[in-house]
Amino acid sequence: MLFDTHIHSKMSTDSEEEATAAISAAKKKGLGIIFTEHYDADFVGGPSDFRVNPDIYLKEYEKYKSDGVLTGIEIGLTHMSTEINKKLAASYPFDFVIGSVHMVGETDIYLDFVKSEKPCLTGEMYFDYVARMIEENDFIDALGHIDYPLRYIGAGADFSFETHSKKYDIIFENLISRNIPIELNSRRISGKEVYCEMLPIYKRYYDAGGRYVTFGSDAHKAENIGQNFKNAVSLAAQIGLKPVYFKGRKMYISSPSPA
Ligand SMILES: [Zn+2]
Ligand SMILES: [Zn+2]
Repeated sequence: MLFDTHIHSKMSTDSEEEATAAISAAKKKGLGIIFTEHYDADFVGGPSDFRVNPDIYLKEYEKYKSDGVLTGIEIGLTHMSTEINKKLAASYPFDFVIGSVHMVGETDIYLDFVKSEKPCLTGEMYFDYVARMIEENDFIDALGHIDYPLRYIGAGADFSFETHSKKYDIIFENLISRNIPIELNSRRISGKEVYCEMLPIYKRYYDAGGRYVTFGSDAHKAENIGQNFKNAVSLAAQIGLKPVYFKGRKMYISSPSPA
C-alpha cells in the first residue's frame, strides 16, 4: 500500500479535520496514512499553539490505528529545542517522526518572513540551517518538505536549486550518511512546471546515493490527502527512488503505485 506519510488533523493547531474524515478519505483513495501532528517547541504564540499534547493525541487516536492508519508527529526543528525534541521523540510510541524546518533560529519562516515580507531571510540562511538541523537531529526518521519556503514565495533565484546546489549536496550527504530519507512533498507538484523544478533536485539526491523517499501531501483537510500523488509517483519512478513509510519507527517499502 502506498502511504501518505504527512497529514494533519484537529490535533494540529492549523487543522480542524476529524480523524474519521481523514481515514475514510484515505480509504477511498486506497492509501495508508500517517497522522503527523505539529509540535513546534519554539512557536511564539499561546502555550499550546502548534504543540500537540502527545498523551491526549495518542490516547484518542489509538482506536483508529490499523495497518493503514498510523500515528506520528511532525517536529519543528530548531537549535534551541534539540534536547526537548529528542526527548519527545524517544518518550512516546510514535510510528514516525518527521523533522521539519519551520524556523531559522528565531525567525519563523511563515510569520516573520512570508507574512511580513521583511527581507530577514535568504536562501543561503535557510539551506545552511536545514543542513545544521540534520547534523544536530539525527533522531528524526525523515526530513520534511525541504521546499517549505517555496510553497509561499516560489522558486525565485534566491531559493533555487541552481543557486544552492552545493548546499543541497551537503544536506543530501548528511541525510544519506545517517540513513534518513527525504520527503517528496507532493503539495506543490500540481503541474509540469514544479515537476520539472523538482526533478533535478531529487535526481541529485539519487546520484548522491539516496534511494528512499517518503510521500507526504501535508494535507490539513481530508480532501487534500494524496494530493498530486500521481505526479509524485511518476517523479520517483522516473528517477528510481522507492517510496517508503514508517511503522513503529521502522522503515518499510511502499508499493510503487497507488492502489
Ligand atoms: Zn511542516
Ligand atoms: Zn505538516
